[in-house]
Amino acid sequence: MSGAHAERAHALLSASGSSRWLKCTPSVQLEQEFEETTSEFAEEGTAAHELSELFLQLHFEQINKRTFTRRLNKFKKENEHYSEGMEEYVKTYVDVVIERANESFSVASDAQVLLEQRLDFSQWVPDGFGTGDVVIVGDGTLEVIDLKYGKGVPVSAEGNTQMRLYALGALNQYGILYDIETVRMTIVQPRLDSISTDEIDVDELLTWADEIVKPKAEMAANGDGEFCAGDHCRFCRAKHVCKARADANLEMAKYDFRNPNLLTHEEIGQILHEAEELKRWAQDVQNYALIQAESHGEKFPGWKLVEGRSNRKYTDEEAVPKTLLAEGYAEEEIYKPREILGISAMEKAIGKKRFKELLSELVIKPSGKPTLVPESDKRPELNSVESAVEDFS
Ligand code: SF4
Repeated sequence: MSGAHAERAHALLSASGSSRWLKCTPSVQLEQEFEETTSEFAEEGTAAHELSELFLQLHFEQINKRTFTRRLNKFKKENEHYSEGMEEYVKTYVDVVIERANESFSVASDAQVLLEQRLDFSQWVPDGFGTGDVVIVGDGTLEVIDLKYGKGVPVSAEGNTQMRLYALGALNQYGILYDIETVRMTIVQPRLDSISTDEIDVDELLTWADEIVKPKAEMAANGDGEFCAGDHCRFCRAKHVCKARADANLEMAKYDFRNPNLLTHEEIGQILHEAEELKRWAQDVQNYALIQAESHGEKFPGWKLVEGRSNRKYTDEEAVPKTLLAEGYAEEEIYKPREILGISAMEKAIGKKRFKELLSELVIKPSGKPTLVPESDKRPELNSVESAVEDFS
């Protein structure tokens, strides 16, 4: 295993942050004032990438079966994030890569599959580089494939700037050796059952790189341009205290109501959209203030740090039943009935494949509670109150 997943170097103008710095160019310099942090989810993603690389290396004969088994056993033993569930999700992604590679071999026998490739797109972005999970290159088409192990935020390949920058890096490297006309970009998000692919002509990609990326990247590197808040603030390190984001949200809250007494349906529709970002922003500010107060003793006018509410707990869980049983209480009185694992936890414990084999007949998915979502959501619309009620009952 390359072992480089956790230490993947990060460029200042990273491909993964490009959707942000392309829209809000000064964010890159502002972010430097805040420490980069990692999360449990990021570590889990790193583990999934390591595991997938191992399976891909075996399939594409970069390691032999013996090395694979030794490394896999070591990974299982040492990586706390490993589970059979993870292995199955990773295999779904590996299958997609193999399928795409086979497609490419069928049209170009000299096609190449490159794993964990450093991709240099510094021709357009100062010091720009990233690591592509998989690059498949053959005559005619170049494909970049990325595993996203997270399931919190769905990520589409369509117009995805990170994937486009990786594609530029790959084109830069292999465009001389192969006659590439089209670039395909695929994101596999196995835990959301999602495979999304976008395609772009090489000429169109290069025009985007020259006319949009290059000038914006230069501005971003110099800290120039206007702050611009939006969805992209979600992963910005300055999001908790950024003035531009606060101004945008406060501006949003100063709604200009047409009817001074009652909201119209259009106004409610707009507020529902804006409420999502307002909620996220308020939560970010609350989290930030708590960390500052707790860890750095900071004070915020009108607020104080107090002990949160807590629940009583036993000091010795073995002594409690002993005491009660000795007093003549029956086991059924003092113990909870045994509880079966929930569906996701069970899938994680026994693996998705075994779960399907053994339990698929014993699982149903009841209709969900009606919920209001933006029109862009992929779920079909419930037609009416009656049909919602009917479906529900
Ligand atoms: S929080 Fe949003 S507006 Fe502020 S710097 Fe970051 S991306 Fe720009």
